[in-house]
Amino acid sequence: MPVVHVDLAERSYDVIVETGILSSAGSSISALRLGSKAAVISDENVDTHHGDRLAASLDAAGIPYSRHVIPAGESSKSFEQVASLCSELAAAGNDRSSFVIALGGGVVGDLAGFVAAIFYRGVPFVQIPTTIVAQVDSSVGGKTGINLPVGKNLVGSFHQPRLVLVDPEVLRTLPSREFLEGFAEVIKHAAIRDAPMLDELAQLDPTSPDVPADLIARNIAIKARIVEADELETAGTRALLNFGHTIGHGIEAAVPYGEMLHGEAISLGLRAALYLSCKQAGLSQDAAQSVYRLLEHFSLPTVLPEKISTDTVMERLSRDKKFSAGAIRFVLLREPGDAFLADTVSKKDLEDAINALRQA
Ligand code: NAD
Repeated sequence: MPVVHVDLAERSYDVIVETGILSSAGSSISALRLGSKAAVISDENVDTHHGDRLAASLDAAGIPYSRHVIPAGESSKSFEQVASLCSELAAAGNDRSSFVIALGGGVVGDLAGFVAAIFYRGVPFVQIPTTIVAQVDSSVGGKTGINLPVGKNLVGSFHQPRLVLVDPEVLRTLPSREFLEGFAEVIKHAAIRDAPMLDELAQLDPTSPDVPADLIARNIAIKARIVEADELETAGTRALLNFGHTIGHGIEAAVPYGEMLHGEAISLGLRAALYLSCKQAGLSQDAAQSVYRLLEHFSLPTVLPEKISTDTVMERLSRDKKFSAGAIRFVLLREPGDAFLADTVSKKDLEDAINALRQA
């Protein structure tokens, strides 16, 4: 059973990756003695598929709990949802001796983590991530938060979980588009920190819903080591996780919500970042091709639809990325596994990279 320890002094915790662990989550959680009662927060899809299994394991472990189900989707990461959850938790008898369990994808994890950070000025929380993005990325690292109408993730707090339980089996119920989009973050991890993983991903059958536990654990370890080096994103190391995200976020924000999934936009952002890495960081065409082919292997988009204008993407990405002396901080690759933060990418370079996405 792979266990990744996240070493953050008194905020350290384990991430346990094990097929079927959802059914015994109660006993893993009760061993930590986090509080007298749990508030389980989930969304309607995840609750339907997996809520009862978690509830049964909490019953078996003798942990009292209340259950709170939010609407699925990004729009739940709002102040309104935080207020309503906090009221629901209090009405169900939760208090400073309670703890929160987040059962769901990144939306549930970010929202429930933020609720845990502020309810009674902070209670412990456990992450049980149910999407690939949540398992390999968002459940580890302690970033919690919600969106504002002007932008994503603009309000939040660092609040590390006390335990993360990762069950690869829950990925079986993901719709196929949501399943495949998760591989954009996996490919990103391989590109920035683990070149041999690129070959292993090429051997993976993208039509199989079974993702090997050790592959997930390896991705979590990449995220964990980066978080350990830069917990509060002040040293620059954590920014390496933004490989492919500057242009990816610009593209994601340039289309109506839901039209393009996050991982799909990041796939395009990764291709653009590979283009700039070849131009400015000496990445070889062969190496860029090996990453590019992986995006295609997982049926991720690599060509920017004509209707999304370069100007719109530039306007959207400029909302949260600041240019200094005409350049932007941008993650580039020297070679697979070796990413760095560059200050040499100009507006014109970004426009060229976005335009290059229009050709297959
Ligand atoms: P999500 O949570 O919206 O889940 C995607 C969809 O899949 C939803 O409809 C959900 O109901 C459904 N779903 C989830 N698990 C399922 C399962 N096992 N079976 C069936 N359906 C299931 O999306 P996501 O991609 O997991 O997360 C995206 C969010 O994560 C964004 O808000 C993003 O900002 C955030 N994020 C946070 C961090 C961080 O460090 N905190 C990192 C990356 C992303």
